[in-house]
Amino acid sequence: MPEKRDWRSPRGTHDILPENEALWRYVRDTIAHRASGFGYGRLETPIFEERDVFSKAIGEATDIIQKEMFEVRRAIEEKETGADRDNLILRPEGTAAVVRAYLEHGMHTWPQPVKLWYFGPMFRAERPQRGRYRQFWQGGLEILGDDDPTTDALLIYLFWQILGDLGIREGLIVDINSMGCPTCRPKYRKTLTAYYQPHQEKLCPACQNRLTKNPLRLLDCKEEACQNLKKDAPQLFDSICTACREHFRIVLESLDELGVVYNLKATLVRGFDYYTRTTFEIRAIDDTRSQNALGGGGRYDGLLEQFGGKATPAIGLAIGIERVILRLQDLNIAIPSLPAGDVFVIQLGERAKKACFNLVARLGDQGLSALCQPGKDSLKTQLRLADRAGVRFTLIIGQREALDETAILRNMVEATQETIMQSEIVEVLTERLRGVSRARREPTIIDTDEESFSESR
Ligand code: AMP
Repeated sequence: MPEKRDWRSPRGTHDILPENEALWRYVRDTIAHRASGFGYGRLETPIFEERDVFSKAIGEATDIIQKEMFEVRRAIEEKETGADRDNLILRPEGTAAVVRAYLEHGMHTWPQPVKLWYFGPMFRAERPQRGRYRQFWQGGLEILGDDDPTTDALLIYLFWQILGDLGIREGLIVDINSMGCPTCRPKYRKTLTAYYQPHQEKLCPACQNRLTKNPLRLLDCKEEACQNLKKDAPQLFDSICTACREHFRIVLESLDELGVVYNLKATLVRGFDYYTRTTFEIRAIDDTRSQNALGGGGRYDGLLEQFGGKATPAIGLAIGIERVILRLQDLNIAIPSLPAGDVFVIQLGERAKKACFNLVARLGDQGLSALCQPGKDSLKTQLRLADRAGVRFTLIIGQREALDETAILRNMVEATQETIMQSEIVEVLTERLRGVSRARREPTIIDTDEESFSESR
C-alpha cells in the first residue's frame, strides 16, 4: 500500500482555486483595463533569468539577493557555456527583467517613453506570514525614457485610480520619499556611516557587513536592534541636492493637484539598490507595520546605464496582488461574477448524444459557449449540472427530439420552455440571449424528477 500523506503546496505558496477565479480576474482585468487605457503595452518576461539581471540591479548587499533567491537547478545538464549555465534564478521582481528586455529588443529606438505592464508570479524565500509569501503575484507598470516629475505623480495616480476602480481606495495613503541621485547620495552615505559606526556592535551581523559595503541597506533591515537604531538615523532627504529637491517638489505639487493623499516618509528607502529620487508605497492609513504595503515603486534613472545601455530615466511600480485581494476580502467588496456559458445541452439516449455533439460543435463555431456532459445519462443530473454552471438556457434532446430533429429550449430563470428545430437553434438562441445578462446565475435547487419533467413537456 502506498504511504498516505498530506499533500500540500510548498511553504509560502498557495493554489488559486476556481472559486477564487472571479476575484483574481477582477483584479487582473482592472489593472489591464487601466494600463492599456493609458497606453501601456503588455510585456511578459520569463519566470527565470540569469542571476546577474537581478543581482546587478537589486544589489548584492540586499536581503533579496543575499537571502531570498530561489536558484534554478536543471535536472538535465545541457551542454551550455557562458553566463547562464548555472546561474538561473526565479525572478524576485519584475523591473530588472523589464530593463533586460528593453535592451535586448532595442526599445530605445521605439518612440519614448516606452510604457509597459506585466502581471505574473515572483519568488522570494521570505518567512511566510499573512500577506507575505514565497510565490506571490505582482501587477507592474513601467515607464522608460521619461524624467519629468509629473510622470512620477501620474504613475502614482494611476495606481490610485486602480485602487479606486477596485473599490478599496478609501483609508489608503501613499508614503513617499526622495532617494536623491548619484550626485548627492555619496554625501548621505558618509553621514549615515558616521552615525552607525559608534553603534557597530549593536547591529546584526548582516548589517555590520552592510555598513562597509552599502550603508543605505541598514535602513531596511528587519532585525529589531537595527530597527531601533534606524529611528534616530540621519534622513536622506536632508542631504539631497537642489535638482533632486526641485524634482521632488514638483512631484508633490502634482500629487496635491491630483488629490492623492500622501505622507512624507524620510526612512522609505525600499529594498532595492536601483532607486533614485522618488520612491513610494501605498498602505492602509491605520496599518503602520512595514511589509504591509499594497504596492510600491520608484525611479531608477541609473539602471539602464548600469546595464550598459544609454542613460534612460525610468520609473515603475508593482502592485502586490495577494495584498490587494486580502483587502478586498477584509472590506467585503462585491466582485462581479464570471460570465456563465450560454447554454447547457442535455441529451437523453444514444441518438440524442450524437445530436448533442453536433450541436455543441455548431454552437461553438458560432461563438456561443455550449456546455455538455455526455458521460451523464439522467435528466436530473444534467439539469443540476446546468444549474450549477449558472447558465440561463438549457437545450434538451431526448429520443423523440433526436428523431424529430427538434430540441427543447428551456429558460432556467423563467422556468419556461419551447420546442424548436435543431437547424434553427443558433438563430433562436442568439435572439433569446440578446440583451440578457451573461453573468453567472446563483444556482437554485432544482426539484425536478424525470417523470414530472416529461409530463410537464
Ligand atoms: P517590491 O517588489 O518589494 O517593491 O514589492 C511591491 C509589492 O509587492 C509590495 O508592496 C507587496 O504588496 C508585494 N509583495 C512584495 N513581497 C511580497 C511577498 N513576499 N508576498 C506577498 N506580496 C509581496
